Amino acid sequence: MSVESAAQAAYIVAALLFILALAGLSKHETAKTGNTYGMAGMAVALVATVSLAITRHVSSLGLVLIIIAMVIGAAVGLWRARVVEMTGMPELIAMLHSFVGLAAVLVGWNGYLLVEGGGNSSEALALAAQGSLGIHHAEVFIGVFIGAVTFTGSIIAFLKLSARINSKPLVLPGKNLLNIGSLVAFAALTVWFCISPNIWLLVVVTIIALLLGLHLVASIGGGDMPVVVSMLNSYSGWAAAASGFLLENDLLIITGALVGSSGAYLSYIMCKAMNRSFISVIAGGFGLEAGPADDKDYGEHREMNAEQVAELLQGASSVIITPGYGMAVAQAQHGVAELTRKLRANGTTVRFGIHPVAGRLPGHMNVLLAEAKVPYDIVLEMDEINDDFASTDVVLVIGANDTVNPAAMDDPTSPIAGMPVLRVWEANHVIIFKRSMASGYAGVQNPLFFKENSAMLFGDAKDRVEDILHAL
Ligand code: NDP
Repeated sequence: MSVESAAQAAYIVAALLFILALAGLSKHETAKTGNTYGMAGMAVALVATVSLAITRHVSSLGLVLIIIAMVIGAAVGLWRARVVEMTGMPELIAMLHSFVGLAAVLVGWNGYLLVEGGGNSSEALALAAQGSLGIHHAEVFIGVFIGAVTFTGSIIAFLKLSARINSKPLVLPGKNLLNIGSLVAFAALTVWFCISPNIWLLVVVTIIALLLGLHLVASIGGGDMPVVVSMLNSYSGWAAAASGFLLENDLLIITGALVGSSGAYLSYIMCKAMNRSFISVIAGGFGLEAGPADDKDYGEHREMNAEQVAELLQGASSVIITPGYGMAVAQAQHGVAELTRKLRANGTTVRFGIHPVAGRLPGHMNVLLAEAKVPYDIVLEMDEINDDFASTDVVLVIGANDTVNPAAMDDPTSPIAGMPVLRVWEANHVIIFKRSMASGYAGVQNPLFFKENSAMLFGDAKDRVEDILHAL
């Protein structure tokens, strides 16, 4: 069998492994196996692609360069994946998406320089003979556009998620016109480039796309960031697929389409869970206007200490725990699991209420609780548990804020208005574990802290949970 046909067979195997990986990742019981399929698929894909490149046109210097690039990439990847904290995962993902975007831009430019800008190069002559030069022009132009939007969009998402820049939405005057204008300009320039592939058109579209990516993500506010991460995931898939067309690599097209469509579907599910318009989010907060500043006086808050909370828990027959980003920061999940065991041993019904965007990545809380061996059957989703708060004695809000904010339901001017939240305030007592009165990711005040049945338990969530365990 020639290397060419062996590589094509390997591509089919890798594509199947990627599909199995996606199927596995859809449930937490099978997620680990899914990951293993993905890794195996990627290994097969890399070996096949490098072997193909060697047989087709890579010189020995090229091979050395490929090996050096792979060693550097693998070393950086291994190092980052080993040291990244669970809470830093979304920003790592955003950064990786920016690499896919940049790669697509470079592949597009390389394609242009080889064919359109290469005079009568062998590549250009071969494409002209097949009559597919026009298709190549379109592939270059569209690939560079999607790649550049993904590149700058992902960098802004990385900066927002790692709190290096403010997560508030940027509201430029006429922002919707800017977005629509860029898309119209892109469409017009694509037609122009297909007729006359001038390098300046490619320069202009690269600049427009870089600015559009920056503006699209900068315009999206705190609460909508989870959707942005999955949306950029989708964009990076389409960017990879565009590169696949240019490089005539079927596996890259298949993989890109898998990533692109699964990312789009995840964005759609998250928009539904957050009661957000999908179109509005992918169009960079389309139609969103700046809300009024929140300078309302909510009154006084009440405080409790760990001993008082332990006493309250001892007398409770039903408890719901709603964890959030703060539980991940404090790494309090093991203490929380221990507290759950103790309360259950005491005859108390304990359940968890998980908001779809609690933490900083989809499924964040489920992963932490599974790691701490909390039984799956007491971990319920928001819709499954929201009606039960009213009949619950005590709710422990551990490091959650936006996901339990009643303003989302009561205040139509709130930036998170309309987002479904866990209705924790309907319980008899609500204890909120956090370090200060600071706001959550969306940067909005939380009236829950000032309700009569609420009390704050200040301090690091892990320390406070341990204090309660001690008191119990
Ligand atoms: P929030 O980000 O709203 O609030 C977390 C709270 O945890 C903060 O108010 C903070 O208060 C507290 N906290 C931080 N560290 C500690 C600690 N060590 N001990 C105790 N408390 C701590 O969290 P939620 O989970 O409720 O909401 C998630 C937010 O993140 C939503 O706005 C969501 O849209 C957004 N988001 C979600 C993503 C996802 O995919 N899930 C991705 C990107 C954004 P203090 O500083 O006072 O301690």
